[in-house]
Amino acid sequence: MSSGGDTIFGKIIRREIPAQIVHETEHVLAFRDISPVAPSHILVIPKKPISSVASAGPADRELLGELLLEAAEIARREGLEADGYRIVTNIGSFGGQTVPHLHLHIIGGRQCHWPPG
Ligand code: 5GP
Repeated sequence: MSSGGDTIFGKIIRREIPAQIVHETEHVLAFRDISPVAPSHILVIPKKPISSVASAGPADRELLGELLLEAAEIARREGLEADGYRIVTNIGSFGGQTVPHLHLHIIGGRQCHWPPG
């Protein structure tokens, strides 16, 4: 089992810094974003330190599926399913990624707009 890598999210996985954890499995951790952009803003991350979807490989196929299914289940439990919500993953500089550890943003509780900024 990987210990999470050398990012702020690795530190959260290793409990070196606190976070409002909402869900944890063997491979996945979910916690509230420290700077929420919506009433519900949860980050869902693999414990394996993959920097983004762009760095994932065939060996991560099952993990990526688990990540998405866990995100949908967390959103359901958060009460977001009826009105809908958004799942976003940012990649690299133009994608607006600031933490180089793959994460899904669950954003809900308000109307989202399209196209995103
Ligand atoms: P990105 O911009 O990489 O897609 O998203 C990174 C997210 O991580 C941002 O929404 C940011 O607010 C959040 N974040 C950064 N540092 C921390 C932290 O220490 N704790 C928590 N809970 N969220 C963080």
